[in-house]
Amino acid sequence: VLEPPTSRRIRPPHLVSRLYQPSHLRDVGQETRLQAEMTCKSQRLMQKAGLIHPSNPGCYYYLPATVRSMEKLVRVIDEEMQQIGGQKLDMPSLCSANLWKTSERWDLMGKELFRLKDRHDGDYCLGPTHEEAVTTLVAHQTTLSYKQLPLLLYQITRKFRDEPKPRFGLLRGREFYMKDMYSFDVSEEAAHRTYESVCHAYTRLFARLGLHCVQVQADTGMIGGKLSHEFQLPADIGEDNLLVCGNCSFSANVETLSSDDKSCPQCKTGTLSESKGIEVGHTFYLGKKYSQIFNASFSNAQNRSCVTEMGCYGLGVTRILAAAIEVLSTEEGIRWPGLIAPYQVCVLPPKKGSKVDEVTLLADDLVHLLGEALPCLRGEVVVDDRTQMTIGKRLKDAKILGYPYVVVVGQGALEDTPRFEVICQHTDEKMFLSKEALLDLL
Ligand code: ATP
Ligand code: MG
Ligand code: MG
Ligand code: MG
Repeated sequence: VLEPPTSRRIRPPHLVSRLYQPSHLRDVGQETRLQAEMTCKSQRLMQKAGLIHPSNPGCYYYLPATVRSMEKLVRVIDEEMQQIGGQKLDMPSLCSANLWKTSERWDLMGKELFRLKDRHDGDYCLGPTHEEAVTTLVAHQTTLSYKQLPLLLYQITRKFRDEPKPRFGLLRGREFYMKDMYSFDVSEEAAHRTYESVCHAYTRLFARLGLHCVQVQADTGMIGGKLSHEFQLPADIGEDNLLVCGNCSFSANVETLSSDDKSCPQCKTGTLSESKGIEVGHTFYLGKKYSQIFNASFSNAQNRSCVTEMGCYGLGVTRILAAAIEVLSTEEGIRWPGLIAPYQVCVLPPKKGSKVDEVTLLADDLVHLLGEALPCLRGEVVVDDRTQMTIGKRLKDAKILGYPYVVVVGQGALEDTPRFEVICQHTDEKMFLSKEALLDLL
């Protein structure tokens, strides 16, 4: 039996000298070249901090700190999806062309679909989304009863799209992580209720991440269907144009409006203002579009077979990570949503030479104490043990990486009532705190 997370044994702190976060900008000649290639703040910061490394266009190595952050984000997404009844599964990325031909999207998807052949000359694609796959799965169950609906299935997996312009780091990749959920309901009314509950879960998720998102009416595009919303993070770098009414609640993606006349189609009196957004989530009410084709049906109370009503709901997991960095950070350093920062605290012992031994011991004590007193910080503390470097230099690195809290263990720690310098990197606030006050703060 696995131990519950709270009783996890105290692990030694992570030492910065041992962490694999290669920075590619240390060499100045290379720096200028990379700066020119890199197109947005989150990409510059993520490469500078050793969070990602470019592989081929639109593909990246996700380095260890990114994986830690992703795992946290996945945990929060799991909580919200499971809160509304979502069940997690995992579908093959290698998708047979037959399904895509049945839905007629094999041709419709054009060049965006990564296509390949197996050894028997069979056609396949790498899944860019999974409406066909999940619907055919549900259709296989001949005994699905109305009592089992709504059924909400989701996965968090790599998706593949041969984007015409992969760019902006993780914001537009050709291989990226998406959370895709699919819902099956007994009626249009029930499907609308499910749709609403997913939108609420998305709103809660972004609020927990401290991200201000706008929910706008959206085009249904390639997926098809009748009702659709996007969750957009306002940012100049965003590739979507949004129209928001100054007078009522109307907000929409420009793509949905046939005329671009600036008066609000809802209240008729307000004026629409245009802004840019990054699409981080998308919800669709699909009706019977896929369930009819693949015959995903259930038996109703009268034991008659009826076709399910569907919805599908995407979240760009890797895009959310980069978009959060894009909108929260400064050029000098990353600011993470607290919940998904790769590490919470960085402890800085003094430079070699000062009253080292004593103070270094104090730093060790402190790290141990943090783990003992605050179980939630176990595994979350990093010690920048590169004591050949000045505090100032290490503080600069800590700023780029954006640990929410940096604790400097300096001469103050040797006083009768020891004090630690604490920097809250989100607010740039600096404080001198006793051990007890520090524990309270964290
Ligand atoms: P976009 O308009 O930016 O191309 P999309 O409308 O094609 O996105 P959807 O099919 O709605 O994307 O996919 C669901 C979510 O997956 C999107 O809301 C977005 O957050 C994410 N996503 C889509 N394409 C990419 C990509 N190339 N790289 C990273 N995330 C992506
Ligand atoms: Mg797209
Ligand atoms: Mg879009
Ligand atoms: Mg979309």
